[in-house]
Amino acid sequence: MIVVMKANATAAQVEAVVQQVEALGYHAHLSRGTERTIIGVVGDDRPIPSHQFELLPGVEQVVRILQPFKLASRDFHPENTVFDVRGVTIGGPKVVIIAGPCSVESRSQLLETAHAVKEAGADILRGGAFKPRTSPYSFQGLGEDGLELLAEAREATGLPIITEVMSPEAVPLVGKYTDIYQIGARNMQNFPLLTAVGKTRIPAFLKRSMMGTVQETLMAAEYILSGGNRRVMVCERGIRTFETATRNTLDINAIALFKQWSHLPVFADPSHGTGKWELIGPTAKACVAAGADGLMIEVHPHPAQALSDGAQSLKPERFAELVRELRALAQAVGRTM
Ligand code: PEP
Ligand code: MN
Repeated sequence: MIVVMKANATAAQVEAVVQQVEALGYHAHLSRGTERTIIGVVGDDRPIPSHQFELLPGVEQVVRILQPFKLASRDFHPENTVFDVRGVTIGGPKVVIIAGPCSVESRSQLLETAHAVKEAGADILRGGAFKPRTSPYSFQGLGEDGLELLAEAREATGLPIITEVMSPEAVPLVGKYTDIYQIGARNMQNFPLLTAVGKTRIPAFLKRSMMGTVQETLMAAEYILSGGNRRVMVCERGIRTFETATRNTLDINAIALFKQWSHLPVFADPSHGTGKWELIGPTAKACVAAGADGLMIEVHPHPAQALSDGAQSLKPERFAELVRELRALAQAVGRTM
């Protein structure tokens, strides 16, 4: 439940509610808005009768939250979550672009891509060092050597980096290098991994699983948030449907719904969402129009030679062209880029 304080409630009245929440054995989550303060009761609050709070001075209303996620919910935290990653503001008016290769393949491939995406206007560099491949015979990534190359590319371009972490055991190693942990679609419900990332204070980028509902995605985000890591982004990357012409079906509904249900920054990944480079531009535009706070796009200097996901990677010049088009679109929907 949430306890909504009156606009003129005093600090002492807010404190009394917090103390009551804690006395009942729950955790209080305070959200001070411009108009009023909201206190979220974290934990299974079904046994608490609402009059336990309704009768306290300064309380306007007690609202029971029907959604099972709490820290991720907009009811708990009405204002958008905005945070900074090495000077890049996530969740603000600027639409943030994450770009780079699916996999880190070599020093020259990564550095060439990093400089090109930076030049084109990307804000953050992506690149997988540990790859979750469907086949054990496919390229599995360069491992720690890949992380070192990402750190070198950050040094060379100034772009913050994001890379995938696949297991709880790898959280410390990946955390030595990365600015953002990527949790892949296949690991969205790897609860030990979510818990381990929740214990760190490195921002997390949680990709929706191809079979996960919007609610399940926000419950997964809740695992990270409840560990105390409040810098979480969610990403729509396409779900599995009956359609076989595209790799996945990019769920535009989910972008708008994530924004409605949650205060967390919402990203979209039209590369994995479609599986086809020709469809990245049109769908990326739809995502920005639907309210996405950022995009993740795969870029490779030689897609035909890519060790993973070449078919859904843009060449740098096409990526630069798309960013130019997206800038005009962002402006039309009241955003910048
Ligand atoms: C990726 O970003 O390269 C990736 C493997 O994505 P997903 O987890 O969405 O399939
Ligand atoms: Mn990929």
